[in-house]
This record gives sequence, structure tokens and C-alpha cells, in this order.
Amino acid sequence: MNKKYIIALDGGTTSSRCIIFDRNGNIVSISQKEFTQYFPSPGHVEHDAVEIWSTQLTVLKEALEKSGINACEIDSIGITNQRETTILWDRNTGIPVYNAIVWQCRRTSQYCDRLKKRGYTDIIRDKTGLVIDAYFSATKIKWILDNIEGVRDKAQNGDILFGTVDTWLLWNLTGGKVHATDYSNAARTMLYNINELCWDKDLLKLFDIPESILPTVKPSSCHFGSTDLSLFGHEIAICGIAGDQQAALFGQTCFAKGEAKNTYGTGCFLLLNIGDKPHINKNGLISTIAWGINNKITYALEGSVFVGGAVIQWLRDQMQFITSAADSELVAAKLKNNEGVYFVPAFTGLGAPYWDQYAKGTIVGMTRGSNPSHIVRAALESIAYQSYDVIKAMESSCGIKLKELNVDGGACANDLLMQFQADILCSRITRPLCIESTALGAAYLSGLETGFFASMDEIKSRKSVSKQFIPNMSEIDIKNNLDGWHNAIQRTLTK
Ligand code: ADP
Repeated sequence: MNKKYIIALDGGTTSSRCIIFDRNGNIVSISQKEFTQYFPSPGHVEHDAVEIWSTQLTVLKEALEKSGINACEIDSIGITNQRETTILWDRNTGIPVYNAIVWQCRRTSQYCDRLKKRGYTDIIRDKTGLVIDAYFSATKIKWILDNIEGVRDKAQNGDILFGTVDTWLLWNLTGGKVHATDYSNAARTMLYNINELCWDKDLLKLFDIPESILPTVKPSSCHFGSTDLSLFGHEIAICGIAGDQQAALFGQTCFAKGEAKNTYGTGCFLLLNIGDKPHINKNGLISTIAWGINNKITYALEGSVFVGGAVIQWLRDQMQFITSAADSELVAAKLKNNEGVYFVPAFTGLGAPYWDQYAKGTIVGMTRGSNPSHIVRAALESIAYQSYDVIKAMESSCGIKLKELNVDGGACANDLLMQFQADILCSRITRPLCIESTALGAAYLSGLETGFFASMDEIKSRKSVSKQFIPNMSEIDIKNNLDGWHNAIQRTLTK
């Protein structure tokens, strides 16, 4: 019982973080380090994979040092990560053959357009649950193989390994002994067949990717390997891996079909647990593997809102209507309701369920009496309306009615936004005490394998709630609000 703590490594998009949790899921120590973002040309985004690893190792050591915890008191390590980001390295030297190509990178967009024109949309969706997009790893891997001299030959000789960030960290933590990933990350490569649970031979052929470079796919909660002795003078087991959004769903204890979470960050990420069967859907939502535990796969529907909390940043930085993001609540609360003003923050087009990449931001319903409060309120409400639209698309696609929404991310601190979300959804909103759901999910996955946490039921029973928001709006007000929003959407759409 001297194993008192569990470590979550969070390999994010802008920083590496390490959080040490105790048995009750409380944070004991936390350390974070940003790493460099490279923008080699417009729309291209890269990271230095070596820097990802070195910052991750630094924060791990820092979190241990700060807390005075000894490595032998650590039960195990769970890893969560920015998804899809693609790294290829030489298996003999451990040196990456190119920078990590980040999920945001659009360099393979035109190739994806050609795949769509050639009629691959249905095949790829049916096999992987995904829409063809530069976002996912497959076309990024192909780009490196096709464009970096000598890499394809080396790959044919079995000298190249591919990994998403989890796999890269695992390989380095284990001193190059383990080349593996989990189901949730494999499902984001656009190479993994989520029905048959294998790397898909047809897709490997289509993208001309040798299977030998791919990691072994394992359950999200299992013994992946142990840290190399040279790192901490002590081997620590690595027993949990999941992509960030799936880890957050797990950290929110959305273990049962019909349970969902929404992360209100820069954008919003919604995941709905849909149980043990994939649901391939045609309205642009993604079907994905949430996790695999004990040979049982749990699937999720995923939808996102491109501009969530980012609209509040825009009001603060560009418009200077507010001095801090938290201020938005006070300014919006000066009004009892939106007084007919709606704001569709389609700064980067509109995603699910509208899919109009040419749409632009639109404010409707302004009068001579409108002031910054109207715009701030309309901006906050837009985060809730956009999330509402994604949730309704999910519900109608798979026939599940959401009863409760679990929330996290920076903007979930806004009570006005959360109450409004509960009102228009007519669903209870639950904000947990620990909103580090992503890291917590990785820790839970790892601790379940080692017995640090007894069972999923036990984890669920210990979830602490910070606040619940109960729907409290009349049917007529809900209808009027939604009508006003959908009218604003119609005025925003370009087709
Ligand atoms: P990310 O992980 O995407 O960087 P965070 O989860 O840290 O995002 O959340 C930050 C976002 O949340 C920012 O876009 C910010 O504008 C928004 N935000 C933070 N606090 C509030 C608040 N009290 N009300 C509304 N929006 C907020």
C-alpha cells in the first residue's frame, strides 16, 4: 500500500503537463511546460517531436520534485494526448525523420479533396467512422513517406516507426522497447477499422503505407510497459492510454450509453457514449472508439464547435468589450435576456450540422438601443446554441435522448452560460469539482488496470460535483430563443 499516487501525462497541443493524483482523485502536484509551435507556411502546423518528449520528461520530474513524492510511491502512469498528430522516427536511432505534423495542419487538404472526388467518402466512413479530412493521421503519414527523402525506402526495410503522441511518449518512456497505442488513438488515424478492430488492409493500400510502421493496438487500460530504469532509478508501470477527448469522457465517468460530456475550451468538443456498437452516421458527426477495456469496446459519437470560448477571447482582445473572459458573465447579466440579438460566430465557417465552410460571423437583431452587453450576451449564448445543435444532431442520428450533460473546459466556469445551456437543452448540467477531466481519465484508466482503483463503479461513486444546473425556462421562451437562433443561422449560411 505504499503506492499512493498515480501520474497522468498530458501531451497537449501547446504544452506538456504532468498531474499527480492521489487515490481520491485529488491533485497533489502539477507541472506544465509550453513547447514551440512551428508554422512553416500558411495552414501548416508542426511541433518538434524531440521537444514534446523533453518537455514531457521535464514536467514529470518537476511534478515529482515539487511534491517530494518518490518514484517508488507511484502506482503507475496514464498517458493522454493531442490526437492525430503524426510522428515518424527511425527505430534504430530513435530520431524523428521529420517534425510532428500537428492535427491542425492542412497540408494534405487537396489530396483529401481528390479522395472525395474519387468516391472514397462512404468507404472510409464505413470502415473508420471518420469523414475524409486532413485532420486525421493517414494523409500526414503518406505526406512524410512521399516527401522526405529516403524515408519510404527505410520504411520498406522495417526501419521506420509511426506513432501519435501517446505512442511516441510510450516508446521513449520505455527506452525504445514498446511500440504500441490504444484503440481510442488508433481510431483517429483513418487507417483503423473500428468494426473489425484491425489496421485496414484496403486503406493501407490506398494510402500506400507499409503495415510494419504501425504500432500494436491495445486496450486503453492494460499494461503497456514500464519506464526505463535509467529515468527514475525505478521502473514505473504505464497502464493507461487514451486520446484527450476520449480520456475526458472517461474522466467525467460517462461510462454508460447515453452519457455525454462537453468541453468548453477554445472550441467545444462533445462526446456521447453510444455503447458497444459503432454508429456510422451520415450527417458529418464522427463515430469513434471511446476506449477498450477488458476486450470490450465502447464507442462514441463526436461533434465539435469550432468557435466556443474563442468568441469570448475575440470580445476581449479585438473588440475590448470586456477586460477578462470571466467578465463576460457580469456584462451579460446586465440584461434579463438577449432582447432579440443573436450572434453566429462563424469565424471559420460552420461545422456540424450545417457544414458551410464559407459562412462568416453574423450578428442579427441589433437596434438603436443595443450596447456591448447585447453582443456579449449573444456571444455567450451562441456557445450554448452551437452545442445544442450538435447534441440534437447526435440525438437524432442515434436515437438516444440526453438526460444530463457533464461539462469541463475553461468556459464551464461561467454560471450564466451553464444555466442557459441547461435551459435550452432541457437537460441537467453537471460541473465536477475536478475539471481536469482529461488527465483524470488517463489516471483512472491506468489505475483500473493495476487495481489502484477497484472498479469503474467505485470511480463513478466517488465523483464530486461542484454545481448542477437545473433547467428552468418556459417552453415558450425556449422556442422563441431557438427560433431566433435558427433564423440567425439561416441568414449566415451561404448556400
Ligand atoms: P483550451 O484548452 O482550448 O485552450 P480552456 O479550457 O483553457 O481552453 O478554456 C479557455 C477558453 O475559455 C478561452 O477561449 C476563454 O475565452 C474561455 N473562458 C474562460 N473563462 C471563461 C468564462 N468565465 N466565461 C466565458 N468564457 C471563458
